[in-house]
Amino acid sequence: MANKKIAVLPGDGIGQEIADGAIKVLEVIAKRFGHSFTFEKGLIGGCAIDQTGSPLPEETIALCKNSDAVLMGAVGGPKWDLGTVRPEQGLLAIRKELNLFANLRPVTVFKSLQQASTLKEEVIDGVDILIVRELTGGLYFGKPSERRENGQVVVDTLYYTKEEMERIIKKAFDLARLRNKKVTSVDKANVLESSRMWRETANEIAKDYPDVELNHMLVDNCAMQLVRDPRQFDVIVTENLFGDILSDEAAMLTGSLGMLPSASLTDNGPGLYEPVHGSAPDIAGQNKANPLAMILSSAMMIRYSFEMLEEADKIEQAVSEVLANGLRTGDIADDKTKSLATTDEMIEAVISHL
Ligand code: NAD
Repeated sequence: MANKKIAVLPGDGIGQEIADGAIKVLEVIAKRFGHSFTFEKGLIGGCAIDQTGSPLPEETIALCKNSDAVLMGAVGGPKWDLGTVRPEQGLLAIRKELNLFANLRPVTVFKSLQQASTLKEEVIDGVDILIVRELTGGLYFGKPSERRENGQVVVDTLYYTKEEMERIIKKAFDLARLRNKKVTSVDKANVLESSRMWRETANEIAKDYPDVELNHMLVDNCAMQLVRDPRQFDVIVTENLFGDILSDEAAMLTGSLGMLPSASLTDNGPGLYEPVHGSAPDIAGQNKANPLAMILSSAMMIRYSFEMLEEADKIEQAVSEVLANGLRTGDIADDKTKSLATTDEMIEAVISHL
């Protein structure tokens, strides 16, 4: 029996619809396993700009910091595209406020959705990868980042401390222990000094994890291997820029944006869980959104923040069964789909399999 407080930030567009679905699923899980979950909603993104003028109001920051975990929908939409204050600033700000340095993206191919991938079924059958990306350092944050000499020269800075490398690599090893005990550390050590330090650090940390296998791979090779033979990977750990690119490439192995969850974690404090997709303004409010990425994000939340492994398995199993039964929202429909499921129908179907 555990008591957990969850901050829910639905955001904009389909965020509202899918967040409500995840809450319903978690309520059923709490009842079945004897836990108590309290949900408190907060504003982020465009709706927060409309109501408070800020994409991340102080109350939302306080709510998140006083919660055990944060579940977020998505932010943004055409309504705010031309404003000076943008919904996406709320996203970057909450990551900074909660010091979320580790971004986790699982890439799992559901058997019944294999035909949605652009790759051959025999290549992606059984793919189960976890990409661990450093989220708060490296080239995206290093200073100076500026134009020089009348705009004819430009400089960006790749800056990392040893400590920043250690904490993310350790996180990857810890996560590998919960999976198939294999870490692939990705770098560009043949060219970059930062990558040589990254590789040394990975080798040092590996000594504390004799039960986990470590191998190194250059980022260009990793980009190729992900589409050539993705089953060779278990946990991939890499720095911010490489992780940004590789995680999007790996995401497309599944062929479906509406199925991908993610987590962003820190060492001591609440983690943030959100689907990879955006706010899908084209289908918002129409009961057409696929709620599964959000529901799978809530499974990640109870697994990684609450250590409720059996409960998380139960949600993932229910999603798998619903898909095996042929239920499809528009984004994952195939030739065999006779009629499309609504968001509500998909949520109810998952609940009925819990
Ligand atoms: P998007 O992911 O919102 O949508 C891309 C396409 O995929 C659309 O056709 C959409 O209908 C479809 N889609 C996405 N999620 C779906 C779901 N769960 N079910 C069914 N179909 C789904 O990306 P976009 O159109 O480039 O961006 C729309 C807005 O979302 C923009 O304002 C963008 O800045 C924002 N955005 C936010 C996040 C985030 O909050 N993390 C991420 C990406 C984009």
